[in-house]
Amino acid sequence: MKNDRSWTEINLTNFKDNLDELKKFFHPQANFMQIVKADAYGHGAFQIAKKAIECEAVSLGVANLQEGLLLRYQGIKVPIIILSPSMENEIEQILENNLIPTISTLDFAVKLNKQGKCKIHINIDTGMGRSGFHYKSALENINKIKNLKNLEIDGIFSHFSSAEEDPKFTKLQSDRFKKLITTFNIKPKYIHISNSSGVITFPNKYANLVRLGLLSYGVYSNSQLKSKVNLKPVMTFKSRITQIKSAKKGDSIGYNRTFLATQEMKYAILPFGYADGYDFLLSNKGKVAINNQICNIVGKVSMDMTAVDISKLKKPKVGDEVILLGDANKNISVESLTSLYDGLSYELLSQIGRRAKRYYKENGKIIDSSPLLRREFMPKDFSDNKLGDIIETAIEQRLQSKEIANLVHEDILKRLFAEKDKDIQYRRNFRHSIKFENSTEFPKYFLTSTNLSFTKKLQNDYFSVACAKTEKDLEKYFLRNDVEYRWLLDNSIDLEEMFFTVTSVKINDITLYNEMKIADGCIEIKCYHHDLNELVGKEVDFSISTKTYYPKSSHQLSVFIIEMTQGVNISFESDLKNVEAVPIFSGKSKFPKILKSNNKISIFTDKDEWVFPTSGVVFVY
Ligand SMILES: *Cc1c(COP(=O)(O)O)cnc(C)c1O
Repeated sequence: MKNDRSWTEINLTNFKDNLDELKKFFHPQANFMQIVKADAYGHGAFQIAKKAIECEAVSLGVANLQEGLLLRYQGIKVPIIILSPSMENEIEQILENNLIPTISTLDFAVKLNKQGKCKIHINIDTGMGRSGFHYKSALENINKIKNLKNLEIDGIFSHFSSAEEDPKFTKLQSDRFKKLITTFNIKPKYIHISNSSGVITFPNKYANLVRLGLLSYGVYSNSQLKSKVNLKPVMTFKSRITQIKSAKKGDSIGYNRTFLATQEMKYAILPFGYADGYDFLLSNKGKVAINNQICNIVGKVSMDMTAVDISKLKKPKVGDEVILLGDANKNISVESLTSLYDGLSYELLSQIGRRAKRYYKENGKIIDSSPLLRREFMPKDFSDNKLGDIIETAIEQRLQSKEIANLVHEDILKRLFAEKDKDIQYRRNFRHSIKFENSTEFPKYFLTSTNLSFTKKLQNDYFSVACAKTEKDLEKYFLRNDVEYRWLLDNSIDLEEMFFTVTSVKINDITLYNEMKIADGCIEIKCYHHDLNELVGKEVDFSISTKTYYPKSSHQLSVFIIEMTQGVNISFESDLKNVEAVPIFSGKSKFPKILKSNNKISIFTDKDEWVFPTSGVVFVY
């Protein structure tokens, strides 16, 4: 967060507490569906879905196919209901991904039935006046749907239009629905009508499922609900002061000079605007909290910047944290801000955080963050090309390790979006050999020589080799694509040249110079040669040899492959008796060949076989 200009914090503990509060209003048979449409009202659908499932949500509600696919792609397995009407051309993917469409027309039901078996929820319009079968004609339609053999009616539902403010109309809707469900002779698994406001204002016994949205995110749909249920905001939106300025009487601030200073004043420029979801209508109206004090927005909110009056602050500094929305003060709750411009809480929440990075907090600790680049992507992109298969397999295989899955995921996003126009990097003829020998100098360690060689397009006229003692320190080198070799040094060894050296580095037949730098818990060795200039952009042969030490007591050594690689051979040589190799490969073949001889064990694939990132081998001795 230290490095972010603006960001959101999503408090999953508050979210859970809100669910617990709302559950007090359920009758004993009732379950809940967590509504995660619009990226969970801007809170992040994946993380909210995971937490809700942990808190016993039986299903998830999304707006459309794309949102459902994304959750499936991220590994969510529970039933997902698509709340808005789906389109005919989406049927195939609905079926393939085991999503549950809602049915609002007979025509769609018939088309769905033709294409395959599917669970459905039937939507009844009892007065909302939006999608769904009108309650008066619902029965005859339901009877026709009943005869469509491929469709399984898993649920029947309706939706309140004004549960937070109009008890009379809510009751009318409820009565219409109740009457309908007593007239047909089917028993769907789920009957549901209440949104989160309805849970509080109109508890009922005939339904056995409720759909939780806004209130579960800790935002009240109506201030009168505050006396009934105690909720805490889940989202906080923060930023920092980037510049401090002063204005004299008569000076104007911002576009179109809508604010004129009436006296000498100090103001701060904050790096967020309406493109970050902060509503333009908050111009000259919005409030923010800085150092526990409320400051007013002055002038128009612009696309990426906003000014606030900080005259009353004692010692404002560039870098001070600014809270734009959230828990800290009632003046900056979602409800208060939207009341300033007659806006809608649902809208403000779902706008915010489209650009800002999200940090997920639980019990005061950050447990996760959303990817660096959170652009919506169409899972379809993944289904019909080769890259799609690569990604799918890689994620699927790796999900068993969160750490590696994250790495892959980040890598994918980076490649797909940030570096969209760049070639995908890959290595060929990958050979990594590692040799252990006894060391007279350090008997508790093996003297370890390694050689790595591969063919790859040269990016720059240099590259780096990195070594660190902790995974955390080494992590940053995984994000840098000028680093071709990384080594994790055992914690018991000092970070010194005598314990990790590059003995030879070559590109084609050019021997490179190397320059070592030791800082911040890392050894970084830059390998370069002026002749490389002419080779940039061409495929070249790399060869990197090192010498280091490895503790005998470790009993295992891991080698990872972190780029797309065609043709792998990893070998381990030693005098040790019982060495086993445990390959964890993702790729078309998960089982590379293993060859054992007296003192050497090799893991290899065919020369043209692709191996996906973060495959690896663990040698156990
Ligand atoms: C969005 C939505 C909800 C959730 O409503 P809240 O007021 O946010 O609780 C419930 N049901 C349907 C059909 C919805 O579209």
